Amino acid sequence: MVLVFVEHDRGQLNKLSREALTFGRQLAGRLGAPLQAVWAGPAAAPAADLGAYGVAALHVAQSDQLADYAPAAWAQCVAALMAELQPAVVLAAGTDRGNEVLAHVAARAGLPLAANCTAVEPGEAYTVTRLRWGGSLLEQARLSGAVKLLTVAPQAVAAAPAETAAVPTVRAFTPELSAADLRVRVVRREETGAGKVSLAEARVVVGGGRGVGSAEGFQSLEELAGLLGGVVGCSRAVTSLGWRPHAEQIGQTGNRITADLYIACGVSGAIQHWVGCKGAKVVLAVNTDREAPIVTQAHYAVIGDLHQVLPAITAELKKARGG
Ligand SMILES: Cc1cc2nc3c(=O)[nH]c(=O)nc-3n(C[C@H](O)[C@H](O)[C@H](O)COP(=O)(O)OP(=O)(O)OC[C@H]3O[C@@H](n4cnc5c(N)ncnc54)[C@H](O)[C@@H]3O)c2cc1C
Repeated sequence: MVLVFVEHDRGQLNKLSREALTFGRQLAGRLGAPLQAVWAGPAAAPAADLGAYGVAALHVAQSDQLADYAPAAWAQCVAALMAELQPAVVLAAGTDRGNEVLAHVAARAGLPLAANCTAVEPGEAYTVTRLRWGGSLLEQARLSGAVKLLTVAPQAVAAAPAETAAVPTVRAFTPELSAADLRVRVVRREETGAGKVSLAEARVVVGGGRGVGSAEGFQSLEELAGLLGGVVGCSRAVTSLGWRPHAEQIGQTGNRITADLYIACGVSGAIQHWVGCKGAKVVLAVNTDREAPIVTQAHYAVIGDLHQVLPAITAELKKARGG
C-alpha cells in the first residue's frame, strides 16, 4: 500500500498536495498496491475530493490539538499509522511542511528519507531521482528501508484526478500526543495581503530586483501586476534592502513560482533566484544588461530601463482594454 500524508492548511488542500496524490497513485499503480491517505484533523477531510485522486481508504487523525500545523504531532499521526498498517511507501509533498513532517517520521521510525524526488524506480531498494541544491542539480540515489519514505518535488508531476474516482472508506483514529509533540505549533497568524493570491499559486508574477532602485519604484510593478491579475515578487537583494517583505521573495530561500508568466524586472537572475522562477512557463526579462543571466535564460527579453519599459507596457495594456 502507498500511504500519502495529505498536507492541508486548516482544511484547504493545495496544488502540491494534489501533485503528491497523483505521484502516489502512479506509484501505487506500478506496485499493484492500493492508494491510501492520512489526514490530520479536526478540519473536515474532503473525502470526495481525495477519492477523485484515487484514494481508496482515508485515515483521519482526530484531535483538536491538530487544528493547526504542529510538525511533530502531525508526524506522530503518520508514524502511528505506519506502524499499524505497514505500508510499502509513505510519501508527502516536498514542501517545507511535508519535508519537515516526514523528517520527524523518519527519525521516529529510524528509517531513511529521500526528499524532493522527481522520479522513483521501485525495486528492493528504490532508485530515486531528486532535486539537490535548490533544484540546480538532479541526483540519483538508492533508498532502502522496510518502508520507503519520500517527498515529491514540486512539479514532478502535473496534478491530475484518476480516470475512475474511488469512494474512500473513512476511518477516524485518535493519536496519542505528548506535550513534546506539541512544543512546536502555530499559535498565531498574521495575514500578509489578505485576499491576495499567493506567489506559489499566482498565474502572473511581476518580479523586481535591485534594478528597481527603491521601494517606491515598485509602484509601476504593482500597477502592471494589478492589470494582469497577478502579484508582485522580488529578489533577495530587495528584501535585504528592506524594500519588500520576505514573503514576496522568489528563490532558493524564498518562494518557488509556477506562474504562466513571470516578468522579471531589474533582476540579474543569480542561480539562487533562478531556481525559484524556472517553474514559470514563460519568463520575460526586462533588463538594461543584455548579458545578465536572466536575459540569457528567459524566453523573451526587453533590453532597456524598466522605468521606461513598464509604463509603456502598462499604457499599451490600458489602451488595448479601452481604458
Ligand atoms: C545561500 C544563498 C541563498 C540565496 N537565496 C536567494 C533567493 O532566494 N532569492 C534571490 O533572489 N536571491 C538569493 N540569493 C542572492 C543571489 O545570489 C543574488 O545576490 C540576488 O538574487 C541578486 O538580486 P538582484 O538580481 O535583484 O540584484 P543584482 O544582482 O544587483 O541585479 C540587478 C539587475 O538589475 C539590472 N538593472 C539595473 N538597473 C536597471 C534598470 N533601470 N532597468 C532594468 N534593469 C536594471 C542590472 O543589469 C542587474 O542585472 C541567495 C544567495 C545565497 C548565497
